[in-house]
Order: sequence, then C-alpha cells, then structure tokens
Amino acid sequence: DAAEEAGDPWRFHAGSVEAEVERELSLLGELDEAVAAGELEVLFQPKLDLRADRIVSVEALVRWRHRERGPLSPDLFIPLAEKGGRIDGLTFYVFDRTIEALHRWAAAGHPIVAAINLSARLVTAPDFMAALADRIAASGVAPEALILEVTESAAMHDPAGAAAALAAIRALGVRISMDDYGTGQSTLSYLKRLPLDELKIDRSFVQHAHSDRGDAVLVRSTIDMAHELGLKVVAEGVEDEACLAWLRAAGCDLAQGYHISRPTSAGAVLELLDQQQRAAAA
Ligand code: C2E
Ligand code: MG
Ligand code: MG
Ligand code: MG
Repeated sequence: DAAEEAGDPWRFHAGSVEAEVERELSLLGELDEAVAAGELEVLFQPKLDLRADRIVSVEALVRWRHRERGPLSPDLFIPLAEKGGRIDGLTFYVFDRTIEALHRWAAAGHPIVAAINLSARLVTAPDFMAALADRIAASGVAPEALILEVTESAAMHDPAGAAAALAAIRALGVRISMDDYGTGQSTLSYLKRLPLDELKIDRSFVQHAHSDRGDAVLVRSTIDMAHELGLKVVAEGVEDEACLAWLRAAGCDLAQGYHISRPTSAGAVLELLDQQQRAAAA
C-alpha cells in the first residue's frame, strides 16, 4: 500500500476530498434515518404585525440534533439534502409538522398563518409541486393559512417555469413570499415576473437601518416600492428595540427576529398566543 501511495499523484488530494465526500455521504444516510425516526425538529419563529402589535404568523425552521455532532445548522444539511435528492422528503416532513401545529393552535382558538421554506429547485419540480398541492388539499387547513417562502435563486434558471408553478399553487389560496430579499441577483426583474404576496428584507439590511444612513435609505425605499406593488413587507433579523421602533416608523408591516422571539416549539408558540390573548382581553 505504501508503495502504491508513493507513486500516486492524487495522494495528497485524495485524502481530503475523499474524507469530505465520505463524511457527506454518511451524513446523508443518517439524514434518511433521522427523518424516518423523527429526529428532525421543526421550530417556529413568530412574525409580529407592527400595526396590530400581535403575532399573526410564524415561520417553520428545521433543526437536526445529531447524536454525535450536536445541533447542525440547516445551512449545512439543507444543501446536502438538495444535492442528495432528499429535499422533497425533508420538505414534506416540515410541512406535516407545520400542519399539525396549525391544527393545534387553531383548536386552542388561534387561527394563525404559517410559512415554510421551499428550496429553489423544488419550485420548478412539477411532481413535487403537484404533490404539495395534494397535501395541502388533504391537510384540513385552509390554503390561506399557508405561506411558501422562496428565494430569488428559485427563479434564476427557469424564470418562466418558476412563475407558472408559483401562480398555480397561489391560485389555491396559498401566499408566496420572497425570502432574503436584496441578497440575490436581478431582484427587480423577479419582482416584476413572480406572483408574490410578501417580501422579506434580508437581515443584513435590516439590522443597521436605524444606525446607517445607506441601509436606512435602502430599507425605506424597498418598503415603499413593495407597498406600491401591493406586497406586505417583513423585516428579518430584528434584534433590538431601536430597530423595531425604526421599522414601525418606516411603515414596515411585519417584523421577525430574536428581539421578538427565537425560533421555538409549537407548545411555546401556543403559550405566547395565549398570553397575547389574555393581555388583549385585560
Ligand atoms: P431563512 O429562511 O432566511 O430563515 C431565517 C434564519 O435567520 C433562521 O436561521 C433564523 O433562526 C435566523 N434568525 C431569525 N431571527 C434572527 C435574528 O434576530 N438574528 C439572527 N442573526 N438570525 C435570526 P436558521 O433556522 O439557521 O435557518 C437558516 C436557513 O436555512 C433559512 O434561512 C432557510 O433558508 C433554511 N431553512 C431552514 N429550515 C428550512 C426548511 O425547512 N426547508 C428549507 N428548504 N430551508 C430551510
Ligand atoms: Mg425563510
Ligand atoms: Mg430569510
Ligand atoms: Mg436565509
């Protein structure tokens, strides 16, 4: 073996690349098991309506508590699931947990709205979108209680296909939200083409809007433009009261971020909603 290695020009590379590929492959296998065993957790982060000062919706965010490696970021395992052909199963898993939570909240007197994140490549996968429409119809939840968050990259490769697929599912009553707005490419042309209801301004612009003149101009003009287009605006990544107050003054519709609530369990969201109802009644 040593002799073989000595003459192998790929030796140095092979070590690291192979190890990396192997690590990803084993993680992909474990992801299948994790989904099957229900080891993935779905948390919900509230969105605050800035005029009503009430939580009116939530966003589902998936978590993987890996047995050995601890909590893994979705930014790490979502791309892996996409590459490995597991993203449709994972998305349906998140969808099912979200439907369960919506039923639970509604049964307790809180008919709120929930958003799920849709990977770019799923938007233009006809089989997936058809299956999603079927699941929505069978869910017992009104389509109006659901929002699909998509990123600009969803529309990059096949803008016409993405627009048609989103229009078809939107016709059911589901709303479409553009996530991480401002970080992608050709944003204006997508705003023009895609059938949208909501625009989420990326946190990299939101966080300094109250302290940075340039960001303030960008966020304020984005809010105004979105309103002219008939879209609701969500500000992501609101981490302090100064930011929240600034957004309110700027006419932003909804805010989401650690200052309002971290992503949390369905039960904890229920408590927040109960609390809010008691405060309103008092
Ligand atoms: P996203 O959809 O833009 O979600 C917002 C991310 O910002 C979440 O990270 C959330 O925990 C984080 N966040 C919320 N408030 C704050 C804040 O005040 N400050 C800061 N610094 N961060 C905040 P998370 O949960 O790690 O998710 C990362 C990304 O992974 C999401 O970005 C989304 O693109 C993707 N993702 C998560 N769950 C799913 C899923 O079920 N399906 C798909 N396709 N993607 C998902
Ligand atoms: Mg999102
Ligand atoms: Mg986002
Ligand atoms: Mg993001």
